[in-house]
Amino acid sequence: MVKIRQIKPLIAANWKLNKTVKEAVDSAARLKIILSGIKDRDIAICPPFTALEEVHNVIKGTNIMLGAQDVFWEEKGAFTGEVSPMMLKDVGCSYVIIGHSERREYFKETDETVNKKIRLCVADELNVILCVGENIEQRKAEKQNDVVEEMLTKGLKNVKREDMKFITIAYEPVWAISSGDSSHKPATAKDAQEMHAFIRNTLGMMFDDSIAQSTRIIYGGSMKPDNVKELMAKKDINGGLVGGASLEPESFAKIVNGF
Ligand code: PEP
Repeated sequence: MVKIRQIKPLIAANWKLNKTVKEAVDSAARLKIILSGIKDRDIAICPPFTALEEVHNVIKGTNIMLGAQDVFWEEKGAFTGEVSPMMLKDVGCSYVIIGHSERREYFKETDETVNKKIRLCVADELNVILCVGENIEQRKAEKQNDVVEEMLTKGLKNVKREDMKFITIAYEPVWAISSGDSSHKPATAKDAQEMHAFIRNTLGMMFDDSIAQSTRIIYGGSMKPDNVKELMAKKDINGGLVGGASLEPESFAKIVNGF
């Protein structure tokens, strides 16, 4: 299917709390081989903090970019346990995931902290993958649009129009995220497309049509080799954030190559 707008797709792997440094390096080395030469889509892998630098040593100069799974909203100071955008850039990151539903749920991340993190990252020219999405109760109550609109307006508050080039939105319905098991089902391509179109429309109202048309909106939630093609055929789906199915290099490569 021919898409009207030309946004280069991004497929990003979120390895979550998985892989020792050696395991991460081995996976990255394998991906470097099996994904070499792909130029028509962006590829990023997000290992745990501990493996970032070593993974960067493996993939630097290739078509695979490095991302982190979280960041703090201050550059430095007495914030035990935290890591700043500049520290992430220092070890080779060009992306960071912010506001993942697991951070919102288990670590009480709020739209306000998400916003503070985003504003520092764009000031430091670090690309952000902002995760938004409703939980199952909100979907059953048909509140998904309200929930996502609030996450976007609060998360992107005071982000300048010219800094939107650093922002990718990941629509991740919480009920579709696999949480390491196979009981969760992905959103249908139709439902995902509906929400992606709503997000694009919301960006149009928050900024303008040119921002709406140029912002990359990727889907996350049980994306797999066997459903990537159908999802990616939708007009407003510009890529994927992949958890469980990204842990095995061959499976992740099938997703990258699957559309
Ligand atoms: C995620 O948590 O970002 C995710 C998309 O996970 P999964 O692909 O395992 O559903």
